[in-house]
Amino acid sequence: MSVQEAQFRTAVAEKISEPFFFDRSSFQKRTASVAAAAAAEAEAVDRDARFPREAIDTARQQRLLGIQIPHRFGGDGASISDIADMCYALGRACASTAMIFAMHQTKVACLVRHGAGSTWHEALMRRVASEQLLLASSTTEGQNGGNIRSSAAAVEQSGAEISLVRNATVISYGAQADGIITIARRAGDAAASDQVLLAMTRDNYTLERSLEWETLGMRGTCSAGFELKFKGSAEQIFPEPYDKIHAQTMTPVAHLCWSSAWAGIAAAAVDRAQVFIRKAARGAGGQMPPGAAHFTAAKMSLTKLRAVITANLDNYAVHEHDERALSSLDFQSEITLLKVEASELAVATVMSAMRACGLSGYRNDGDFSVGRHLRDVLSAPIMINNDRILANIATANLMSGVPTSLRD
Ligand SMILES: Cc1cc2nc3c(=O)[nH]c(=O)nc-3n(C[C@H](O)[C@H](O)[C@H](O)COP(=O)(O)OP(=O)(O)OC[C@H]3O[C@@H](n4cnc5c(N)ncnc54)[C@H](O)[C@@H]3O)c2cc1C
Repeated sequence: MSVQEAQFRTAVAEKISEPFFFDRSSFQKRTASVAAAAAAEAEAVDRDARFPREAIDTARQQRLLGIQIPHRFGGDGASISDIADMCYALGRACASTAMIFAMHQTKVACLVRHGAGSTWHEALMRRVASEQLLLASSTTEGQNGGNIRSSAAAVEQSGAEISLVRNATVISYGAQADGIITIARRAGDAAASDQVLLAMTRDNYTLERSLEWETLGMRGTCSAGFELKFKGSAEQIFPEPYDKIHAQTMTPVAHLCWSSAWAGIAAAAVDRAQVFIRKAARGAGGQMPPGAAHFTAAKMSLTKLRAVITANLDNYAVHEHDERALSSLDFQSEITLLKVEASELAVATVMSAMRACGLSGYRNDGDFSVGRHLRDVLSAPIMINNDRILANIATANLMSGVPTSLRD
């Protein structure tokens, strides 16, 4: 780099208070080392329903937990596309690791996009980057299922101190996390939909286990139920109302990261099916086995799945700092439906991969087993139930027009 170019880059970096030349080239290598650790323990994590300790420790060593934090707070300033790629790579190795990473990054995105300007939240960003803190999410409460836009537990305020007691039916890796980001009713007299987002670290909450996590798949997410008791400072409430954070960041980033993790699981199943079909064809002197058509179907739905994710990633990247565009009916309905579409395509892909492998795919032992992938990916349609999403979106969808051209 010439002296002039270096001077120019430094001047631009100072102006936008971010370095102009992030070293993105390291992201792939760092992710690959986490994926290798995740793949090595994936079977044990699933069998024993245990937290993927090695994988998350490696993510800490590779400084991936703070990778999205802006440079000025000690992170690498990774973009949403970088993060989605990481979720995909980890999904190919271990579904639980990928989902833990996806959920953590969604919380970090809320912190980055809605915490800047608040001294408490900026300090937390610095801690996430320097200490590689793992953040969990608490939205599900009592019997409320995936009805995130409604809270029962309310923040109690006494001067500058606040407290919260929450029946958190599901908190993935709650026992292992260093902090939790939760929704809550703004105050005792607030409506269920008048919510705030609140960040807390280990030193200001306790968790008492109320439900175990003995499930079909995603067993390593350790998504047990807890009674969450928090005492802290009013500064820990995000400065912006939750409805805004929900629409602009929580939903888009969660849906993009989850979908990428599910696509990774689907890709891993397609990988196995491909090796199986190749081997079968070789063994039959080049003759395709009957399951080959299912392999083609698996590849086709994986292609669709990746296309729908990348189209939504590009759309979000273009509008991510444009509040009006993000709150438009069209954007909201597209990003909401991404979750439905991606989860159904991921399940279809893994099913086709299993049918391509036949009994070898159905077995729990052997190199072509896709049982774990199928069990893991079946969580996708119920992780915020697709039925609930489709029922909620019906009215808004009726109001938006039918496109008159392919690219309008
Ligand atoms: C792997 C995994 C990890 C998770 N991690 C977390 C976490 O870290 N933190 C957290 O807070 N939560 C977490 N959750 C919970 C998640 O956010 C949802 O709360 C949960 O998946 C909803 O489950 P549900 O289908 O039982 O609930 P509901 O959404 O209540 O659905 C229950 C049933 O009612 C039906 N239904 C509901 N509403 C409608 C409607 N309007 N129209 C028609 N049918 C409807 C559904 O089809 C379903 O059959 C996790 C879930 C999974 C699977």
